[in-house]
Amino acid sequence: MTASAPRYMARFRCIAEACEDTCCAGLTVPISESRWSLLRQKVAGGPDEARVAALITPNPDGATGQQAGILGKRADGHCAFLDETKLCSLQSRYGEVVLPDGCSVFPRVLTRWGAQVEMAGSLACPETARLCLLADDALVREPVPEAQALRPQMARQVASGDDAWTAHADVVREAMLRLLARRDVPFAARLYALGRMALELGDFFFPGTTAFTDAPAESDAEARLANLLRTYDAPDTLHTLREQLEALELPGGPWAGICAAVLRSREAHVGSQRYLSLVRGVRESYGGADTTPDDAWRLHVTRREALTALHGERVHQYFQHHALNHVLRHPFTEAASLLNAVFLLVLRASVVRYVLLGHPAVVALLGTPDAPVATLDAAAVESFQLVAKHVEQAPQFLDFAQGLAGEGPETFARLLILVKGL
Ligand code: SF4
Repeated sequence: MTASAPRYMARFRCIAEACEDTCCAGLTVPISESRWSLLRQKVAGGPDEARVAALITPNPDGATGQQAGILGKRADGHCAFLDETKLCSLQSRYGEVVLPDGCSVFPRVLTRWGAQVEMAGSLACPETARLCLLADDALVREPVPEAQALRPQMARQVASGDDAWTAHADVVREAMLRLLARRDVPFAARLYALGRMALELGDFFFPGTTAFTDAPAESDAEARLANLLRTYDAPDTLHTLREQLEALELPGGPWAGICAAVLRSREAHVGSQRYLSLVRGVRESYGGADTTPDDAWRLHVTRREALTALHGERVHQYFQHHALNHVLRHPFTEAASLLNAVFLLVLRASVVRYVLLGHPAVVALLGTPDAPVATLDAAAVESFQLVAKHVEQAPQFLDFAQGLAGEGPETFARLLILVKGL
């Protein structure tokens, strides 16, 4: 069996003690009943028996099954089993087989599309963020041995094909990837086109749709889907949409206000000093806690223009790779609609754009045009990684995104505000 993966994940190796973070820092790590039991058998009668008994405790939420136990933490927020070289002491002594699923699989994200396992990466790991954002061929997909995917049995099953929503998911996803990869219009215009495509498809392509099975509409829906995807592949469509987007005049203050609110809402819940210090630096660079969204927006626009003039292609690569990886890593079939999935992508891209343009190292770089691109790369890796780790998957953020998106046409109207900020 083979799996497929973007090239950056085929290249990925954990860099352990050289890593500026660790996978488990600041996160709760659950262990399943079966893996916990196996670990107890492996350590029985040995020097680690008492440690395992003391440091892994039943989940205080009373959960069983996959979340039955919780691994203990040191005072600095790291896993109690991490050794001085930032490697897992359990893995070193007893092998990968005893690791909780999350530890074994991270930063891999496994999805089964039909019979095929796909491995994407979480940018919450600094090394995957570096490999994904900085290499120009990072998102080329290629076959990898299934063994490299580790625990493919953990893959989420997405496209079973039992209903039209999942049966056509692959062809829609490929159209999304093609659209995002187009270089003949700016990135924001591609996201706008993606939103328009999702809005139009939403009339008949959604979870539970019967448009593809209710005769006589069946063949109509198939043809409509194919026609729509073909329309969005056409160069003329994209150029027309680009002109529409550029002609749209919308205030930017709400965009800056939304991004700042997302960061603020996570501060009370995150213990990571790396995250907190970056967010404080970003807030100060936009004028401090008392700045208005309109003032932050004006600063953002000035910086966006200056950074585009200095390193436009590089910045474009970061965001294009983030978006392509997002589509691979977060199957849209898990969203309430295709438009909601696109909205979440654009909101995540907006927050990280706001952080990058407020990163103190990036602001300093704008005043020193000779600064090496490596300075920008380092700031980008830090921004994307910390937002991926502490914002993008957080339940509060996902609830906020759902409330902000609303439903149907209002989702599209709100998407426009976000797209104009990019
Ligand atoms: S975050 Fe990534 S590079 Fe760092 S220790 Fe974890 S897997 Fe290794």
